[in-house]
Amino acid sequence: MRFVEHEKLNSCVHCGLCLAACPTYVELGTETDSPRGRIHLMRALEDGALEPTAEVMRHLDLCLGCRACEPACPSGVPYGALIEAARPFLERHRAWSRRMARRALVAVLTRRALGAAAFRPLRLAGRLSGRLATRSRWLALAAAVPRPANGEPLPATIEPLGRPRGTAALMTGCVAASLFSATNRATARLLVHAGVRVVVPRAQSCCGALALHLGAAERARVLAKRQAYAFAATGADWMVSNAAGCGAVLRDYGHLLPGDPHAAMVARRARDALELLAELGLPAPVRPLAARVAVHDPCHLAHGQGVRAAPRTLLASIPDLQLVELDEADTCCGSAGTYNLTERAMADRLLARKLDRIRASGADVVAAANPGCLLQIRAGLIGRGLDVTAEHPIDLLAVAHGLGP
Ligand code: SF4
Ligand code: SF4
Repeated sequence: MRFVEHEKLNSCVHCGLCLAACPTYVELGTETDSPRGRIHLMRALEDGALEPTAEVMRHLDLCLGCRACEPACPSGVPYGALIEAARPFLERHRAWSRRMARRALVAVLTRRALGAAAFRPLRLAGRLSGRLATRSRWLALAAAVPRPANGEPLPATIEPLGRPRGTAALMTGCVAASLFSATNRATARLLVHAGVRVVVPRAQSCCGALALHLGAAERARVLAKRQAYAFAATGADWMVSNAAGCGAVLRDYGHLLPGDPHAAMVARRARDALELLAELGLPAPVRPLAARVAVHDPCHLAHGQGVRAAPRTLLASIPDLQLVELDEADTCCGSAGTYNLTERAMADRLLARKLDRIRASGADVVAAANPGCLLQIRAGLIGRGLDVTAEHPIDLLAVAHGLGP
C-alpha cells in the first residue's frame, strides 16, 4: 500500500452516478475532474501504474473535498477518506517552494496567535477599503471579515437558569476564534438559553481540519490528539462546533486517531450547534426579523454531517422571517477550507455560480453555518455590489431571541 486502503478504492463500481453531483465535473465536464475519474487516478497511483506528474496532481488538487459525491454514490464509496489519504502522498511530490508555502499556510492558520496577528491587517484593510472592495478580490475578502466581539472572552463555564439539561463543550476554533468571536458568543448564549451548561475548554486549539485539507496529516493528528484530550477531559455530553468543517472532522476523530479513547469519545459526542439546538428546542423568539432568507448548505454540514433540516427549522421559527428557495443550495461555494486561497480560478467560478443563484432567489440574507462559506460568499456579494448580506444562522437566531446585537 502506498497511501490508501485498496478495499476503499475497490468499492467504486464506476457507475458514474456521482458525476452530476461533483461541482468540478459540472464546471469542466472532464472525466479526470470527476469523482470516478479521480478514483481511477488514485488507483493508478496506488498501483504504481501512474507517476504523480504535475497533470495528475492538478486533477486531484482541483477536488474540493466537498464530499457531494458521497450521498450520490449507491455503493457507499468513502470518497472523503480516499482524497484525504491521497493528499499527504501528493504533498511529498510537490515542488519544494510550493510545499514550503503550503506548510507556512498550515503554520499560520492552525496557530491562534499567528492567525490573529495575520488577520489584524486584513481587517484593517477591509475597514479602509470602501468602494475599492468592488474592484479587488482581496479587498472584498478583507471587507468580508466581521468586526471582533466586544467585551471579555467567554468564561470557562456558563450555567443556565435552573437544572441543566446537559453539558456542552464549545469549540471556539482557530480561525473562527479570531474572526467569528461574536458568533461563538452567540452560540454559547443560545445553548444556555436552551437550558444547557456550557464549558469552554481553555486548552483547546485547532481541530486539525485545515491541516488535513492541506495534506499535513501528521500536524493534523498532533492537533487532533491535543483537541480530543482537552474536550474529553470536560466529560461533556456534547462536543459542539458552529463551524461545519470543524464539526465534520470532530466526527471523524475515531478514524484519524484509531485506538485513541479520547478521540473515539469526542467523535461519538460531536454535534453541530444548530443540530443540537433544533433537537433540544428553544423558547419562542422574542423579536421579529423581516427578511427573505436563503439557506446555503455548507458541504461539511450537509454532506459531511448530514445536517440539513436544523438551520431551516430554527430560522422558520422567527416571526416575519421568510425562507426562500436557493437553487443548488448544497453545491460548494468554492471556499472549501483553503481552496479559495490555493485554487483561485475554480473557487471564483463556483462563487460566481453561487452568487447567480443567490440573486435569482430574491433573498436579502444568505444564511451559512460555516465561517469559510460566510467569508467567501460575503466577499462575493461585496465584490458584485449586491444588496444581500451573508450571516451565520446562529447570529440571526441570537438577534431573534434577544441575545445578540
Ligand atoms: S464513486 Fe460511487 S457513484 Fe461514483 S462511479 Fe464510483 S460507485 Fe459510482
Ligand atoms: S469531493 Fe467534491 S469536488 Fe471532489 S470529487 Fe467529490 S464531489 Fe467532486
